[in-house]
Amino acid sequence: MDPSEVKPLVILQEIDQEIIRVKRRLKKIAEEKEDLKEEISKLKAELESVKNRYEELKKKRREIRESIEEWERKLEDTERKIGMVKKDVEYKALLREKSKLEDLILKSSYELDDLEKDLKSAEEELRSVEAKVTKRIKELEEELLDLEEEERAALNRIEELEKRRERQKEEVDPEMLKLYEESKEKLGAKLVAKVEDGICSGCGMRIPDVLFSKLMREKTVETCPTCGRYIYYKL
Ligand SMILES: [Zn+2]
Repeated sequence: MDPSEVKPLVILQEIDQEIIRVKRRLKKIAEEKEDLKEEISKLKAELESVKNRYEELKKKRREIRESIEEWERKLEDTERKIGMVKKDVEYKALLREKSKLEDLILKSSYELDDLEKDLKSAEEELRSVEAKVTKRIKELEEELLDLEEEERAALNRIEELEKRRERQKEEVDPEMLKLYEESKEKLGAKLVAKVEDGICSGCGMRIPDVLFSKLMREKTVETCPTCGRYIYYKL
């Protein structure tokens, strides 16, 4: 067979191989985007949980402060009553009440001290996690933007290749095109393969020396004994 017969098909194959490469890259981009999005949401969840812990401690502090204020009001009230009662029984009851309230206030004040310490470390943790997470999310979002840009470029490239493919198809001998399309699943986008250093680039196997010499000498198109592809040395 004459090399000029397969040349248009070789060009079509190259277009198809590039389409395959770009599509493979697109798949990879989609996976990478998913990974980035997952990492971003994990980081956001991490920050959220540290924030929640801090907010919970603040809420608890507010509650304790309110309780203390309430008990202090009651204590004042009780002390006023103590100054006014006449009966001994009532007086003793009020004293018990006063001492109970003082106990509560004291215990809660200790609790409040501990809480302040926890709050301080929670706040420090929040600041540091916030700084770290914000920085990392920014980096990841930039990576995501880059990938999206690459994705758009790849989609445009495929569109352009498909157009070129349609035009190139017209150049290929119909019989050969049919054979090519039919063999695609088995041979990939490679019905015609170049032979380099005696190796068929289709299957990677060495072809007999006699055949290789013939290809070089006569510049013909032959068939690879291993994979059955059309092989050539130079077009
Ligand atoms: Zn082969």
